[in-house]
Amino acid sequence: MIDPFGRSISYLRVSVTDRCDLRCVYCMTEDMTFLPKKDLLSLEELDRMCGAFVSLGVRKLRITGGEPLVRRDVLSLFQSLSRHLATGALEELTLTTNGTQLEKYAEGLKAAGVKRVNVSLDSLDPERFRAITRWGNHAQVMTGIAAAKAAGLKVKINCVAMRGVNEDEIDGLVAWCGREGFDLVLIETMPMGEVDGDRTSQYLPLSLVRARLAHRWTLEPIPDMTGGPARYTRCAETGGRVGFITPMTHNFCESCNRVRLTCTGTLYMCLGQEDAADLRTPLRASESDDLLFAAIAEAIGRKPKGHDFVIDRRHNRPAVSRTMSVTGG
Ligand code: SAM
Ligand code: SF4
Repeated sequence: MIDPFGRSISYLRVSVTDRCDLRCVYCMTEDMTFLPKKDLLSLEELDRMCGAFVSLGVRKLRITGGEPLVRRDVLSLFQSLSRHLATGALEELTLTTNGTQLEKYAEGLKAAGVKRVNVSLDSLDPERFRAITRWGNHAQVMTGIAAAKAAGLKVKINCVAMRGVNEDEIDGLVAWCGREGFDLVLIETMPMGEVDGDRTSQYLPLSLVRARLAHRWTLEPIPDMTGGPARYTRCAETGGRVGFITPMTHNFCESCNRVRLTCTGTLYMCLGQEDAADLRTPLRASESDDLLFAAIAEAIGRKPKGHDFVIDRRHNRPAVSRTMSVTGG
């Protein structure tokens, strides 16, 4: 699949639920209304959708949400999708999770062919973690992360850097990840969806974080190996990788290789634009995948050039109305 700007689309992120057991302040409001269960694609339909994308050239699948591991029977989806790993059609099957259910699922995921997990963790301090997630149990997540490591999964920690919230902990996270053998990826807050707090005051440019880290750590840029939006460095002192995702200060759209499918079968061609394609109707209209293939081709044909995120006092409104938990982060 090649889009109008010559970018090859080889990466699909699939949100399997909009629900979550946490309510991170930058992601959700406290009183979220979730979709009725009947609107969701079944696991069989999600599997068929993924299969269609794989046969069109997707080489990397990331399962996300909401919190993917709160979807009932989600392991059966991983087990079923692993057939594409076995044939070699798929290079990587992975997930992004908040870690609360990892203790239960780590071994099953590994057995299904998952090699790496991204775990979101914005603080190493239990009280602060609870405040950011509104009610999350830090110990439960740490146990989940330990289970992933013990199961032989590679762990990447995603951390949203927030002014006045966790900016004093980034040093500690670099050190901890270095000791544990985890990659660390720092993320700027993106203006997605209405949240309760003031996003402008939370926004912390990673250029500033990086300059501060340079006082203590030697961060050597390493060539991009993932094709993703993170710019990686190697921390000379710990040997670990530290990545920076800077949607606000550095636009990474020119190398974008991905599209995102929601749990209702809507395809978003760009995280930061409203345009979307309904794939549920063509999926359900026929047992063969011909209609679906045609709808996917049409959608890829209108993938936009990029997003235009701005956070400042004049633009204190979300760039897109849906939250990250809808599109799948
Ligand atoms: N629940 C899972 C988790 O937290 O890892 C998967 C879904 S979550 C939406 C995916 C990632 O998006 C998380 O790392 C989260 O921190 C990030 N995220 C959510 N809302 C964001 C926002 N407004 N700006 C930047 N990152 C955001
Ligand atoms: Fe849930 Fe992930 Fe959003 Fe936090 S970032 S509320 S864990 S979906």
